[in-house]
Amino acid sequence: MVAVMWFRRDLRLEDNTALKQALLESDKLILLFHVNPAQFLDENSLNMSAFFNSVETFRKKVAEEGATLQIVYGELEEVFKKLKEKVPDWSDIYVNRDESGFGLERDKKAGEMFQELDVSAHGFHDHYIHSAQEIKTNAGTPYKVFTPYYNKWKERPKPGIIETDFSSKTCLKDKLFPEDMNKFQELLDDLALLPDLELGTDKAQERLDEFIENDLAQYEEARDFPLKDATSRLSKHLRTGELSIRTVYNKVMDANQTKGRSTFIQELAWRDFYNMIYASHPDQKDVAIKKAFTKVEWDNNEENFKAWKEGKTGFPIVDAAMRQLNGTGWMHNRLRMITASFLTKDLLIDWRWGERYFQEKLIDYDSASNIGGWQWAASTGTDGVPYFRIFNPTTQSERFDKKGDFIRKFVPELNHVQGKKIHQPEKLTEKEQKEYNVIIGKDYPNPIVSHKNKRKLAIKAFEKSKKVM
Ligand code: FAD
Repeated sequence: MVAVMWFRRDLRLEDNTALKQALLESDKLILLFHVNPAQFLDENSLNMSAFFNSVETFRKKVAEEGATLQIVYGELEEVFKKLKEKVPDWSDIYVNRDESGFGLERDKKAGEMFQELDVSAHGFHDHYIHSAQEIKTNAGTPYKVFTPYYNKWKERPKPGIIETDFSSKTCLKDKLFPEDMNKFQELLDDLALLPDLELGTDKAQERLDEFIENDLAQYEEARDFPLKDATSRLSKHLRTGELSIRTVYNKVMDANQTKGRSTFIQELAWRDFYNMIYASHPDQKDVAIKKAFTKVEWDNNEENFKAWKEGKTGFPIVDAAMRQLNGTGWMHNRLRMITASFLTKDLLIDWRWGERYFQEKLIDYDSASNIGGWQWAASTGTDGVPYFRIFNPTTQSERFDKKGDFIRKFVPELNHVQGKKIHQPEKLTEKEQKEYNVIIGKDYPNPIVSHKNKRKLAIKAFEKSKKVM
């Protein structure tokens, strides 16, 4: 039987459910990645750049193993029809299914198309520890709150690593569409450059081992402090699937290190939870889950939005975080919470604007987690932060970057500022400004809003929406 293994966000030859099955059941196997123009943002998007560089790293890995990753480029129907014309005896296709968002819609269309092409499609659950359908309330409905979901999640038996003995023996080596490969290379050349991306399965495995060895034990105490860099940084590998979630789970569980483990595993459960939420609220990218907050009157001031994006709000922790995002494509979790809260509450800017900006910039962009995180911070999501409990950016800064060294790392204008005023540089006296070589209002902005006033306005806006609904 001639089959296709269609890779999407499972860019690895190890612990891969669909690939294992495809290798077992086919006589000849075509390894394929489809570059779909419908999925591109723009070429300046760090998200796209990182994703396609992962694909390229995977293509090279497959070549090292003596096989070819066929890159096909174009609209969905066009490319698979073209493939069928080229390989008329192609009869089966193997995929790891998507359960939400763009991937789910694409898979529905693809399913119909494969029927027309007389190709049997085999779909597998692979991307999460537990699929969106697995953990339900006793009434069979999706959970709305994380804690009871997690209690059930913990009790469920966990999947082991799926041993996938990859061999290129039955894989097609000829390049079927060299012109598409060229187009893909051109796309790579045009994409925004990011240094030191460290992508691919080998790097991901190394990072996982290092994390277990060096950071897991301190994870619980250290994970909230951006400067400590104490989290796993595995998100960029998990979203492309160059690392399997089962490998992460099982290696962490098998490690000698037990300290920090349950807190880390709980984060993996959040990933499953948000996937389940997205699957049960397919319009979640555009619509607030909490109906009471669908009528919030956002201020949506363009100038404030620009200042937030550029890291020029006059709130050092927010600015440092946004500059970390713009410069590296990644932002620490605590800072994602602070910047998202600041945008939606202090600036009263629509969470969808922020969600889309993160989509453009994050090298670990994952729709379910990003939308979930934004709706959480905006209080519009299921189990979100209560609308009246608004983060104070200054106290957050004092607590999680006490000495201000994270701020200094990303906001060089404040490099010489000493003491507590690093968190509120607008309080520096003229003498101090001279001493620290920064003029507030010129070298570094005054705060663009008053947190005290904006906090009250945000609460009013949410309460007004509640009354209208
Ligand atoms: P670790 O702390 O080492 O956690 C291990 C893994 O657990 C992560 O790689 C991730 O897969 C998962 N995880 C941890 N925290 C969460 C969480 N709160 N929700 C879901 N999964 C989690 N995560 C993304 O992967 N992609 C996104 O686009 C994304 N956008 C976010 C937007 C906002 C506004 C917020 C508040 C959070 C967002 N997160 C997102 C969740 C979290 O910030 C990142 O997963 C985490 O910072 C990644 O770093 P790490 O791998 O070092 O995490």
